[in-house]
Amino acid sequence: MPSEFQLIQQFFQREQAEQPAEGVLLGIGDDCALLQIPAGKQLAVSVDTLVADVHFPRDADPELIAERALRTNLSDLAAMGADPLWFTLALTLPEANEDWLRSFSRGLFKCARAYGIALVGGDTTSGPLSITIQVMGATQPQHTLRRDGANIGDFVLVTNFVGDGAAALAAIQNTQQFTDEHTDYLQQRFYRPTPRLAESALIRELASSALDISDGLVADLQHICDASDLGAVIDVENLPLSPALKSLNNDAQAYQWALSGGDDYELCFTVQPEKMADIAMLIAQGELQATVIGEMIAGGKVICEYEGEPFKLAKTGYQHF
Ligand code: ADP
Ligand code: MG
Repeated sequence: MPSEFQLIQQFFQREQAEQPAEGVLLGIGDDCALLQIPAGKQLAVSVDTLVADVHFPRDADPELIAERALRTNLSDLAAMGADPLWFTLALTLPEANEDWLRSFSRGLFKCARAYGIALVGGDTTSGPLSITIQVMGATQPQHTLRRDGANIGDFVLVTNFVGDGAAALAAIQNTQQFTDEHTDYLQQRFYRPTPRLAESALIRELASSALDISDGLVADLQHICDASDLGAVIDVENLPLSPALKSLNNDAQAYQWALSGGDDYELCFTVQPEKMADIAMLIAQGELQATVIGEMIAGGKVICEYEGEPFKLAKTGYQHF
């Protein structure tokens, strides 16, 4: 039986050693990693913890747990306008299970390779299963996507589709039936959310503010409102819904998921009217999939309207406590 230390070496240190890694002067194996930030760039840092049976079922496929953990962290880098560089991994494991670690490592490095991010260190302890990933990325100082940059009259946009995260949860928990094809699509959206890094790189010189939607569109847009000291109006009829959501023929449910469901990991961003032509061009050329869903206004709150009339929302996003 290999020791925990040997397993870490086998499944993390050796795996990473085979990957190219920019700016890593010293990686896994010493007391600290030594990292060189690209000249003229700023370091963007974010950390998230996933706890078994709180954020995922403890018997979930370890490959998918790893992918979801890294992808949701990468989404934070995208939301900041940062390019991925490095990450650290703190693993708490109930036992040194070789099969579990092999599968976790496979998912982790598949995702790390796909998005060009290198594992540079971590910590391994024994206890109830939890996974903490800290990501680091590089931003151009003039082109960070902060929450506090929105102005009155800015357009509000979202990438791709909203509401799939909540719909996926309903499909997984069997409270809503979808066709096999739509179920597959929603499961991919849930377990393997796409960090919108390509979109981030396109919009970061044009957007006035941005964040990623993890707790629900209304709840998250409210963070932009709070930071920018503004309100926002969402035109519900313009929310982009996936074919899976549209297939329900139940707009009330679809809009509810789109507005208040979590786990979408799409970008919500604001654009000044004079920059809209550039954004519209990217959309028209098929380089950027994004939709105008509303506007920044005075007032401090997010309000929802359907064809100009107030739209009643039952619940505004997921809260942990
Ligand atoms: P220390 O006691 O000095 O903190 P550790 O024994 O915790 O050292 O870790 C030894 C090396 O292995 C360090 O470079 C650390 O970053 C790395 N490491 C430990 N656990 C992990 C992990 N889960 N993933 C990646 N690197 C890890
Ligand atoms: Mg340690």
